[in-house]
Amino acid sequence: MAWFCVFLRLELWYHLHMSSTPTIAIVGRPNVGKSAIFNRMVGRRIAIVHDQPGVTRDRLSAPCRLTDYACHVMDTGGIGSDLEDGFTEQVAREADMALASADLIMFVVDSRDHLTPVDISIAERLRRAEVPVLLVLNKADHEKQDLNLGEFAGLGFKDEIFLSAAHGRGFHDLTQYLNGYLKKLGAAPVDAEEVMDADEMQEEEAREEVNADSPVRVAIVGRPNAGKSSLVNAILRDDRTIVSDVAGTTRDAIDIPHEVNGKEYVFIDTAGMRPRSRRDTSVEVFSAMRSERAIRRADICLLVVDIAAGVTAQDRRIGSLIAKEGKPCLIVVNKFDLFHPSAEYKDRMEEVKEQIRSELFFLDYAPFVAVSAKEGKGIAGIFTQIEAIRKGSLDYPSTGQLNRIMQRALEANPPGMHRQLRKRLKLFYATCAVNEKYSTIPVPTYVLFVNDKRLMLDSYAQYLRNAIRQEVKGVGIPILLSPRSRV
Ligand code: GDP
Ligand code: GDP
Repeated sequence: MAWFCVFLRLELWYHLHMSSTPTIAIVGRPNVGKSAIFNRMVGRRIAIVHDQPGVTRDRLSAPCRLTDYACHVMDTGGIGSDLEDGFTEQVAREADMALASADLIMFVVDSRDHLTPVDISIAERLRRAEVPVLLVLNKADHEKQDLNLGEFAGLGFKDEIFLSAAHGRGFHDLTQYLNGYLKKLGAAPVDAEEVMDADEMQEEEAREEVNADSPVRVAIVGRPNAGKSSLVNAILRDDRTIVSDVAGTTRDAIDIPHEVNGKEYVFIDTAGMRPRSRRDTSVEVFSAMRSERAIRRADICLLVVDIAAGVTAQDRRIGSLIAKEGKPCLIVVNKFDLFHPSAEYKDRMEEVKEQIRSELFFLDYAPFVAVSAKEGKGIAGIFTQIEAIRKGSLDYPSTGQLNRIMQRALEANPPGMHRQLRKRLKLFYATCAVNEKYSTIPVPTYVLFVNDKRLMLDSYAQYLRNAIRQEVKGVGIPILLSPRSRV
């Protein structure tokens, strides 16, 4: 026993003095804004997308971008390892986890709300901490709230700070506090260039806003003869001259900047390019190759399908590339003039829709519009849809919401026992990360921290995707799941 204590002390000493990077843990009951604070401290959500060594187990950790000294921020919120467990117990376990591994604890409460029993039980545990605990009064969106420490004073923590994660208030004070402490700990200074001060944080946000306003890159893809050139011509009808003045033209596509309804777009037109000679490569291979590159560069893909021919093998190939790249998509059913005035039209449209749904099942997220490129009909509908998809992409759940969605889904239909592995899938934590740094239509990746990702069967992944789909409004945006096994 004595030896064990010595070992523990040694480990604590080692942790405090020798481990390279201090860890700051964010603790608190759900919904107080832990994820929002975490995101502010690590910069963008992007910071957590990559397979960083810090992203382990049932918590999420990433380098802090605010402080002058290197440290990691850890968000302990999330689903406990056993969903049946009581709520308080789960929160308590998170607090214990923070106590065991953090060099400083940020205890977050909602300053607009009253103290809750969960707050109090977390506080009780944290008072035993050997490391400093900073009481963070979040959601102090306005200055006048700062004076109102009120009942939170009774929690008995020496240091407190008012923050508004939503508006970015108080982060300067937080940074100063953390710098002071990290310096005392002897943490390694960070390259000045890596540090982001409060102004830069706002600039970064502003850049994101600029991004949202920059041209949407629209790839127009489909098999030969589907009507891509005709579609581009229909879109450019009033403004052909601009085609001669193109930038970014590559071997396999022409980039055409063009304004529609006062909004800037860049059309990535794969139709205008033909193989230089028959010997170069076959038309089909050439078309698939250039589609692939165009799709990769696009914010959204228009897959042009010929209503007369229906879905062909090549549509499937190109469609699966769109799905594989995880790109937003709109299916454009072209040549409807061939049927439109006739009684057959409705039947044919139904047939094609059904074919699209079954043959292009991997594009189940893509809405479709019917157009006639030749007659220039239905073109406005394409832009209404693109804008709807763009707006919808901004509506993804917060970490808190996402974990609640997942928890409900898992309770409603718990994962079965895996036959070979003789285990059940367990979900510890889910978070939403935006994986396209500079896309005007960013596609979130839903990162799921699970006990063993081999237990995530396709059918269950599809079930979870549907559960998310029901809660997020956006159409045209794929739901990308990325299960990660806990190490
Ligand atoms: P978590 O469950 O503790 O991780 O909380 P979240 O970060 O998911 O936030 C819960 C809710 O509080 C979300 O709707 C946030 O938008 C909101 N929220 C977070 N921080 C603030 C803040 O500073 N002010 C206001 N008004 N709302 C906030
Ligand atoms: P691409 O190879 O995908 O660029 O296809 P094109 O735009 O060159 O069109 C292939 C053929 O389909 C041409 O003969 C076009 O005239 C015809 N076409 C394109 N769009 C329409 C349409 O909306 N209606 C009809 N009836 N024919 C069309």
